[in-house]
Amino acid sequence: MFWNRAMETIRPEELADLQLKRLKWTLSQAQEVGLYQRKFREAGVSPDDIRTLDDVEKLPFTYKPELRAGYPFGLFAVPLKKVVRIHTTSGTTGKPTVVGYTRKDLDNWSELVARNMTMIGLREDDIFQNAVNYGLFTGGLGFHYGAEKVGMTVIPSATGNTRRQIEMIEDFGVTAIHCTPSYALHLSEVAESMGKTLDTLRIGIFGAEPWSENMRAELERRLGLKAYDSYGLSEMYGPGVAFECPERNGLHLWHDCYLAEIIDPETCERLAPGERGELVITPLVKEALPLVRYRTGDVTRLIEGECACGRGLRIERITGRSDDMLVIRGINVFPSQIEHVLRSLPEVGEQFMVYVDRAKHLDEMTIEVEMTRAGFSGELQDLARVQKKIAGELHNTLGLRTAVKLVEPGSLPRFEGKAKRVIDRRRIL
Ligand SMILES: [Zn+2]
Repeated sequence: MFWNRAMETIRPEELADLQLKRLKWTLSQAQEVGLYQRKFREAGVSPDDIRTLDDVEKLPFTYKPELRAGYPFGLFAVPLKKVVRIHTTSGTTGKPTVVGYTRKDLDNWSELVARNMTMIGLREDDIFQNAVNYGLFTGGLGFHYGAEKVGMTVIPSATGNTRRQIEMIEDFGVTAIHCTPSYALHLSEVAESMGKTLDTLRIGIFGAEPWSENMRAELERRLGLKAYDSYGLSEMYGPGVAFECPERNGLHLWHDCYLAEIIDPETCERLAPGERGELVITPLVKEALPLVRYRTGDVTRLIEGECACGRGLRIERITGRSDDMLVIRGINVFPSQIEHVLRSLPEVGEQFMVYVDRAKHLDEMTIEVEMTRAGFSGELQDLARVQKKIAGELHNTLGLRTAVKLVEPGSLPRFEGKAKRVIDRRRIL
């Protein structure tokens, strides 16, 4: 099913014309912003130099710290009276990034989220529980208005009070839920303890943190739904940048609104089609906060060619963030790789935590792993066997020795929002 068939299945030549036209428009918006006037001047490039889509390579990148430096409204390309809403990204260090939206931006945004939801078969007779943080986090209102645009019955349940969430699913006959994958796992755990099977659920939308295929299999089995991956970032409105179709072989990137490139994060060179690297996005329709070649920090690759669903360009599921990447004794490790290994082992329970320390100038990684209830009550020699097995599997995948500590089910922290599973204590020391 299509929300906007013309745009979702646009022919490549027609798309290229549209992207170029919109890119030029975006650059004229960017010219309204002091940061870009300066960056274009420093790079010796003018928007008039952009005559083909490949000319985008002449343009400078935009980095997250530059957005923070514009705090609060320094990067808006329109007067404040045209800005009808503001979101901010979570500022873990220093000031957050402020994202402004014109009325047209809000329309564009809800249209893109409506495309996501229609693509996976959600319709106006679906009942949608939006179990994410509302407020400044874009995942809440982003999906809320997209689902309303489709005409679904929206329950703005937000996060927290998990037992009440489960009662709502049952009482209202909820058919689709949106939350983080780690919260979905927690929800399934609590539902099981309450003896609830949540039979009405048929679709789960999960995003805001990377998750693995094994996690997908587990969520589908435990919640009895089809799980879809959502990709977005606040700087680009929020959710609605890319989304899985029912084929679930990559996420369709809404290429009439976002121009995607893949670069080597070290050399900043553009990579050949199909190669894995950092995703760089130039939004093509953003009014209030235009961005040029924004460095997302997310690692993926482009999948060209038509999908069985009839749509075009896809990105591979995000395998990690270039700044989430841990360097342990010179080896690159993504937390998602650890998750993938752990979820493939039947002895492993719900949660895990990763600690990185430096002892005697040597990096050490310790992984605390919750066992299943059955596994933990077993014999002591069984525990030693499981510990060895997990360490062996991790070694095979990561190419790195790790210390594995088995802990009791339910003893590690649960996360309602984004999971924070990695604690790097090297930086604190
Ligand atoms: Zn598809």
